[in-house]
Amino acid sequence: PRPIEVLNNALADTAEHRKRVKVKDAVVHWFKWDLRIRDNRALSQASEMAQRAGVPLIGLYIVSPQDFEAHLTAPIRVDFMLRTLHVLREDLAKLGIPLWVETAEKRRDAAGRVVELMEEWGANHLFANLEYEVDELRREAKLARMFAERGLALHVAHDTCVVPPGPLRSGTGRPYAVYTPWFRSWIRYIQENLDLLELSEAPKPNPTTVKKTHGKLFDCPIPDAPEGKRLTDEEKKTFRPLWPAGEQEAMKRLDKFCEENVGQYGKNRNTPSIPGTSNLSAHFACGTLSARTAVRTARDRNNTKRLDGGNEGIQTWISEVAWRDFYKHVLVHWPYVCMNKPFKPEYSNIEWSYNQEHFEAWTQGRTGYPIVDAAMRQLHGMGWMHNRCRMIVASFLSKDLLLDWRMGERFFMEHLIDGDFASNNGGWGFAASVGVDPQPYFRIFNPLLQSEKFDPDGEYIRKWVPELKGVKGKAIHDPHGRGAEVLAKKAGYPKPIVEHRGARERALAAYKRGIESG
Ligand code: FAD
Repeated sequence: PRPIEVLNNALADTAEHRKRVKVKDAVVHWFKWDLRIRDNRALSQASEMAQRAGVPLIGLYIVSPQDFEAHLTAPIRVDFMLRTLHVLREDLAKLGIPLWVETAEKRRDAAGRVVELMEEWGANHLFANLEYEVDELRREAKLARMFAERGLALHVAHDTCVVPPGPLRSGTGRPYAVYTPWFRSWIRYIQENLDLLELSEAPKPNPTTVKKTHGKLFDCPIPDAPEGKRLTDEEKKTFRPLWPAGEQEAMKRLDKFCEENVGQYGKNRNTPSIPGTSNLSAHFACGTLSARTAVRTARDRNNTKRLDGGNEGIQTWISEVAWRDFYKHVLVHWPYVCMNKPFKPEYSNIEWSYNQEHFEAWTQGRTGYPIVDAAMRQLHGMGWMHNRCRMIVASFLSKDLLLDWRMGERFFMEHLIDGDFASNNGGWGFAASVGVDPQPYFRIFNPLLQSEKFDPDGEYIRKWVPELKGVKGKAIHDPHGRGAEVLAKKAGYPKPIVEHRGARERALAAYKRGIESG
């Protein structure tokens, strides 16, 4: 059975027990990647129970260095999360709700530690929002049974997606593996179940007595990033002003985007030199913004109540936020994608090149293809990369360099502030043609044409590859091939590490061989 079924069985088996557990001295919400107060399903339910029973609500967060390792969480993402915890702790404290931050060195210690803390606090109901990766679903299934054995109750909520994984099925009753019909069904389902867009109520303030009963919980320190996941001082100086943390910042960014840019999103979203996209992915990934709030806010700017009507920019943006749901649904239906396997098993036999020099040139932004190099340097410079460029560099790695797409997938996770397994795996699968609803393998981006089309004046390249600033006109896309070789050489800018036409032929042959032998 798939992990979601294991969890659903565990929840069904323990449902009666949950109803019987009488609320004791406190109710706990376990924060994970849902670090917000506003529109948080499980937090809202936890608050409701606490209010009804007249007991305090306690927030819990568990820092697990081993979890960061396992998920390849980038230091910039860890830093963003820890900064968010500081904001969240303050916001919760205003409601009289403490946030207890616990460190569990080993992943497997987390569940045991939760139980110990609950016993210490006299709490017997724990609420949490679901995460859909395999390990997380298995952990929750175990926890549900373990709780039942100890007279505790675990309540989980679907929160991260607008439509929870499960109900969307094709005519044959199967989950969708193609985005377009899935999206039509997603829209239809929301229109028929408008409560999916109802925002959850904010938690109510704790009883004032909480300071007496649980006062020491308010003094909990928030740890520094663990070894190996720390930013340097220089990086902190660069990244922190770029990415202010906390849900108020997310809302500010969302409102500003909806005010100024969403209308033009369809037109501008593919131009990396302009701020045409929302830049909200770090907040979605950290859970400082819910997808529901985002979709609802965008929809409310339209004169229609429908998601598929009104301004085209708004519709397109909503359809992009929907991709996030799509890839999370894929994880649930085909959990083997969490295990380093391509969605399409017939793509398992491609002979990748594993050329380390090529990989290093790619990671460092020194491939000799300015658009690729600009994008990789943007990743280092911001911890973020424009979506069009993500597609370009992913295609370049897997096709032009014939490097195993998993090397790129991993590198992205290790460097992105918005690193999210489902979206990253989906994006890499798309670009490398091995994923769900991918680009066909014989469609290979020409990096020069992509550059000319999406960065026609070379503005993006000049920003991120400053040594090419002096290159005039179209030569910016290919300085060595278009007469700017002297300047490029003087600036130390490398020649292309592969020749696109030959690389394309090599990729086509390798993919074909791999599929035929698969
Ligand atoms: P906007 O264009 O404003 O879109 C709004 C939101 O919709 C995004 O914040 C994001 O949550 C969601 N979204 C948009 N496009 C996609 C998409 N194609 N797939 C899934 N969700 C989408 N996105 C991540 O959040 N984390 C990742 O680790 C990640 N890795 C990627 C790897 C590759 C190879 C590719 C091609 C794409 C990847 N994406 C990833 C998707 C996309 O590039 C980013 O979500 C987007 O660039 C974030 O910028 P934005 O917030 O300005 O997006």
